[in-house]
Amino acid sequence: MKKLLLAVLCAAALGIADAEETDIVVIGSGGAGMSAALTAAQAGKKVIILEKMPVIGGNSNRSEGGMNAAGTLQQLAHGVTDDSPERMSADMQKGGHYLNNPELTLVLAQNAKDAEQWLLSLGANLCHRMGRGGGQTAAREHGPCDGSAVGAELMKVLYKNAKEIPTIDIRPKNQATDLIVEDGKVVGVKVKTNDKDQKEYTIDAKAVVLATGGFGANAKMIEELRPEYKGFATTNHAGALGEGLDLAKQAGATFVDLREIQAHPTVVPKKGILISESMRARGAYLVNKDGNRFINELLPRDIVANAVLKQPDGEAWLLMDDALAKKNKLLQGYIHQGLTVSGDNVEQLAKAMNVPVKNLQASIDQYTKAYETKKDEAFGRPEMVAPNNVFPMYAVLITPAIHHTMGGVRINRNAEVIGTTAKPIPGLYAAGEVTGGIHGGNRIGGNAVADIITFGRIAGKNAADSCDKDK
Ligand code: ADP
Repeated sequence: MKKLLLAVLCAAALGIADAEETDIVVIGSGGAGMSAALTAAQAGKKVIILEKMPVIGGNSNRSEGGMNAAGTLQQLAHGVTDDSPERMSADMQKGGHYLNNPELTLVLAQNAKDAEQWLLSLGANLCHRMGRGGGQTAAREHGPCDGSAVGAELMKVLYKNAKEIPTIDIRPKNQATDLIVEDGKVVGVKVKTNDKDQKEYTIDAKAVVLATGGFGANAKMIEELRPEYKGFATTNHAGALGEGLDLAKQAGATFVDLREIQAHPTVVPKKGILISESMRARGAYLVNKDGNRFINELLPRDIVANAVLKQPDGEAWLLMDDALAKKNKLLQGYIHQGLTVSGDNVEQLAKAMNVPVKNLQASIDQYTKAYETKKDEAFGRPEMVAPNNVFPMYAVLITPAIHHTMGGVRINRNAEVIGTTAKPIPGLYAAGEVTGGIHGGNRIGGNAVADIITFGRIAGKNAADSCDKDK
């Protein structure tokens, strides 16, 4: 006892703080980190969540569209009976140009339904939405019932639930700077506080979950990997810098598809404000600065983004109508923020957009006919859920911007991080945008939220189980 007291006194005198201990450290407080932490805590584990930024939620907070899940009860209630995990997985692979790891796409598709159910059980407001996003062959998007953004809603619910669990300790402004690795096993994390004290400390843990998100705001890294994206704006939060990849490297992780970086086609130029793909799913369509449609708007994001870049000035207009504005909170928000121009008739709208009225009228007529005949002769769009022609109509100018980094840490179906010997690194799990292999060469809209919640839960569960195995 005396010896212990002496050791503590010596350590205190030397300014060496004893390491804290916990079961699991989760690095990152976005959707993946929060889902992992809640799942591990629900399995009886003590969890510390480290978040380097002053606010929690990362890019997840900004996710606008929805969460894809196949075979949900809500889909069935809407008469969508032809969807399945296999179909969702196949869509993911086709949209990702078959670069995806098919085992991971199937695990995601098979478990997304339960992940959505879990969110409902936590109190999330999620309805199934008719209409399909780019690259989807079935209507499988779920989101807040009033059409508002999915990310903010889910982060609010996850945070509220996490705060109520005493064994979860959430620490904003606490950045993981290093992983502690002993004999090839990850056994803890070194941390620095991002405040004026810049305090450094250590947490010993039985397992660590890396949920640090992507690197879409790291312009230097993006340019190094893909010089053609030099100067592109980003939709990402300022903290999406990819340090999680360096942490993983310290533990001997391997990486996959780092060059696969997605530009989202519909982002407000210079402002970097994302206009959700769900607008197109609800019936919105694109015209260029000549007032002409130029593509099937429901193709995957990379194809639509490339088509926009080929239009005059590399920009285009997204057209939406009053019928959608009346019922959709997201669109109401865009209008409220002054991002749209509008017109009470086609002449006014064409003037506001500075496009030839004759061409705009022809585009509106063509799309209306496609809706009525259920056949888009000109561009082969597979679905028009609304005529999108009720005035006043709204238009927002868009251009592509960096949105999602598909590549990252290599994981297996258990969210274990794979090391250089092709075996899992003991004690290290990863989930969410920091991982690679799930979305291949292009992520389909609505699959990021499905991914972070589903693999977040898988990582949390397996990290928790590993604590018991080590006993
Ligand atoms: P995902 O969608 O995969 O959950 P997010 O971008 O939503 O990813 O969340 C990742 C979070 O991780 C962000 O809030 C980011 O600030 C945080 N983060 C990144 N690196 C670190 C780090 N080294 N230490 C603590 N938090 C980190």
